[in-house]
Amino acid sequence: MNIIFLGPPGAGKGTHAQRLMQELSIPQISTGEILRAAIREGTPTGLKAKACIEKGELVPDAVVIDIVKERLQQADCANGYILDGFPRTVAQAEALGTFAKIDAVVNFILSDDAIIRRLSGRRVCPKCGNTTHISALNGSTVCPVCGEELVQRKDDLPETVENRLKVYAEQTAPLISYYQARGLVRDIVCDGHIVDENHALVRQSLGLED
Ligand code: ADP
Ligand code: ZN
Repeated sequence: MNIIFLGPPGAGKGTHAQRLMQELSIPQISTGEILRAAIREGTPTGLKAKACIEKGELVPDAVVIDIVKERLQQADCANGYILDGFPRTVAQAEALGTFAKIDAVVNFILSDDAIIRRLSGRRVCPKCGNTTHISALNGSTVCPVCGEELVQRKDDLPETVENRLKVYAEQTAPLISYYQARGLVRDIVCDGHIVDENHALVRQSLGLED
């Protein structure tokens, strides 16, 4: 199954994509994660993306379209994949339509309040890229996966979050009706903070058994 996870920042797309990846043995393709890795490695793509990401703006369509097009050609995508954070504009969706056949779009719905709570508590590992919420750390400040000291993403600081919500409403939310018109959207309301419960909603929306 070729799946898109659509939703505002902080909706939990990455968390659920990672779990579903293990459950279905299909890759999670997170453009945000690919871009952050490119920044860490100092590649030309990383250099292009850095300023946009830090301001909470979108990286140019051409850059992310190339990344995804190339990634989907790799062998591990043959039996399906989860696109997490792509497409984010109608232009990206149209490009995707020329090289991929999407089966389902899971639309994560949550309030601005919930988004802000989640993003302000989000911490990321600069070494392995793992993302955690402070509520799950019990006061610890290190990565539960590799032990590195966790940091807050610059784009999770309040000034930038506000801009990201605006960018989402203006540029990404129109994709809901774009994919509704194609009969692909499955809405899930995930304001609750219990990951297992939200994950059950994701699975149900895709017609997977509990
Ligand atoms: P979140 O998990 O908070 O939604 P992501 O990790 O998906 O954030 O993305 C972080 C940043 O990377 C975005 O704010 C944007 O600057 C950039 N980015 C990620 N995916 C895309 C995309 N498909 N198009 C343009 N920019 C992107
Ligand atoms: Zn780590």
